Amino acid sequence: MLLDAPPPENERMSREDTFAFSCHSGLDCFNTCCRNKHLPLTPYDVMRMRQALLLHSDQFLSQHVLYRTDPDTGFPVLSLKMNEQDAVCPFVTEKGCRIYEHRPMACRLYPLGRSSTISRDLQAPHEFFYLLDTPNCQGIRQNKTQQVQQWLESQGLAPYIHMNDQMLNLLFHPRRNRSNPLDQRQQQKILVASYNMDMFRDLVATPRFVETFHMDEQTSNRVAQDDTALLRLGFAYLNRTLFP
Ligand code: SF4
Ligand code: SF4
Repeated sequence: MLLDAPPPENERMSREDTFAFSCHSGLDCFNTCCRNKHLPLTPYDVMRMRQALLLHSDQFLSQHVLYRTDPDTGFPVLSLKMNEQDAVCPFVTEKGCRIYEHRPMACRLYPLGRSSTISRDLQAPHEFFYLLDTPNCQGIRQNKTQQVQQWLESQGLAPYIHMNDQMLNLLFHPRRNRSNPLDQRQQQKILVASYNMDMFRDLVATPRFVETFHMDEQTSNRVAQDDTALLRLGFAYLNRTLFP
């Protein structure tokens, strides 16, 4: 994820650094943080949340997602729609998050943020972490210290980080014209191939796609049943076709 203004060097953390945090239902602030948020949604977030809710992509995107484009790059920026009446997350309950096993990356990382970029050879993502500004969070005043790496493991973040970093290949694609934001056609392609999995699955099954992308039977069968494989194919398709 890219930040508008990266934190200063001395506030950046690596996976080996430590921070204090503990969140549990006994704290007065329990559940109060799941509101008034700009909560970014990555393609993998959308995939997992949709699985939890058993919704068709169109339905999930229209019910739960706000959409804008980044003014500099033209990349679509999706975020979770909070309830209109009270700005509370639609998934919070008295007992906590009702899609906890499939909650998005930003919720898993909290109270940390993560920024990642990729080297020119598109090989190794470079990342750093930082503490978010969370004045009302009692969790950061608890006496439990852990390494960033331990936190990532305990929150099941490995597949999220792995899949989300695939977007870096597009953002830093050598053929992307940095002086012009993406046009509508390119934005539409990203939305279909990385956020609207049901629409992309239909596209992938067409004879034209199968022929153009030399899809063998085994791959066709896998992406018909496995959303993660389909999303990987979506990233590969975008890498190949977004910047002709
Ligand atoms: S404000 Fe912090 S400690 Fe309180 S529920 Fe939210 S994350 Fe947990
Ligand atoms: S998705 Fe779950 S953890 Fe994230 S803000 Fe909503 S209720 Fe809270």
